[in-house]
Amino acid sequence: MKYFSTRGAAHDAPKSFLDILLAGLADDGGLYLPLTYPQVSADDLARWRGLSYADLAFEILSRFADDIPADDLRAITRKVYTAEVYRNVRDGENAADITPLRVLGEEGGTRLSLLALSNGPTLAFKDMAMQLLGALFEYALARTGMHLNILGATSGDTGSAAEYAMRGRKGVKVFMLSPKGKMSAFQTAQMFSLQDPNIFNLAVEGVFDDAQDIVKAVSNDIAFKAKWAIGTVNSINWARVVAQVVYYFKGYFEATSSNDERVSFTVPSGNFGNICAGHIARQMGLPIAKLVCATNENDVLDEFFRTGSYRPRKSVETYHTTSPSMDISKASNFERFVFDLFDRDVAAFRATWLKIDSEGSFTLDADKRALVATKFGFASGRSSHADRLATIRDIDARYGVVVDTHTADGIKAAREQLEPGIPMVVLETALPAKFTETIEEALGRPAPRPAGFENLESLPQRSDVIANDVEAVKAYIVKHAG
Ligand SMILES: *Cc1c(COP(=O)(O)O)cnc(C)c1O
Repeated sequence: MKYFSTRGAAHDAPKSFLDILLAGLADDGGLYLPLTYPQVSADDLARWRGLSYADLAFEILSRFADDIPADDLRAITRKVYTAEVYRNVRDGENAADITPLRVLGEEGGTRLSLLALSNGPTLAFKDMAMQLLGALFEYALARTGMHLNILGATSGDTGSAAEYAMRGRKGVKVFMLSPKGKMSAFQTAQMFSLQDPNIFNLAVEGVFDDAQDIVKAVSNDIAFKAKWAIGTVNSINWARVVAQVVYYFKGYFEATSSNDERVSFTVPSGNFGNICAGHIARQMGLPIAKLVCATNENDVLDEFFRTGSYRPRKSVETYHTTSPSMDISKASNFERFVFDLFDRDVAAFRATWLKIDSEGSFTLDADKRALVATKFGFASGRSSHADRLATIRDIDARYGVVVDTHTADGIKAAREQLEPGIPMVVLETALPAKFTETIEEALGRPAPRPAGFENLESLPQRSDVIANDVEAVKAYIVKHAG
């Protein structure tokens, strides 16, 4: 399988999976996509239904990463997708399922379920892809004898998932910037309690945007970036997206008893990475009815699906909400879907997409707009803080299940899109223990904590405070880089 950019680069000389594994944006500012999506046959689906998560992951990933020898790839998926890594399941669930399906109940003439994606080390779905990425990075670096210094900025989830995926990996160091004193006590403890010598937590004297600006400035210094082998692990990374395709297949098999059935998925969305993987699974031939994109008050995507206009927000128009991992001003993976919507016609796609740079937004014509729902199955919903609280209370009262705030946004949108006879699966993107303040507001009691996390905040912590200054961060990297 070869890859090219949505904006046209590498069309003449497409790249392999390992070529783009360590890459972020393509040279022309676009995102990498495979030349075609591999198609799954009825035979494939029949064979895959009974596979373990690790072996299903191998089958799917091998179609996208055919430059990794099969034995190597299978060894990697079997090492990553284990009951030990994804062990934080709820009572009564089997960790060996990796992504157990929890049926809530019958609503709207169908079955409403949660797909538990948050049983990994940081209690959020980003572990599903990031753990694989860690193993793939280590594998690729060992083959070439190279090393990599990962630089990132985080307000919580991405940084911790990256650190837990890269800790102790040979050839990799992680420099993670976070806004000093601005993360929750739980998130701070999760990251700063890591004692691995290849992990560096830098608390920046500033806000998240300052930390992100520093990362951009360092990445834009091409000479520095090359000399110190600086890489990133942000959500546009292709390997992260493709790793997420696997659980749509797994969730489909768990929610159905035969491959003649169709399933709808609702996805709490921010940067459109998670639901983009659902789009790819559907394009590969998985019988998905609807893909429901759930947003919070930061509703740039919901607005697009309702009106056909995509209008990225300014920083000042971006709200801090109680589902913070969905607080985005623009959706960095959305370009991948819009490229497919334009039938992968680079010129037509560019003529519309680049209006974002010149006019701040674009609006689809009526024909294209209709295709979003009819051909691609997309729908959407939006939820507010009050909706979140009401949903958390309702799911607790009705089904005895405590859900996190992001998942609650998903359930709210899912309930508006139920169709009789088509099971609805809501992706559970975090466990409630991560956002216990809002759970207490909703339920008057703290969220349950998985075993082993009881004393997280009292573990010794390790971090360095650093000035809100690009040169200071560069000097730190030079001093500590491998
Ligand atoms: C990252 C994240 C999201 C948003 O996922 P995208 O892939 O950015 O759309 C939703 N919920 C939680 C808990 C997250 O960490």
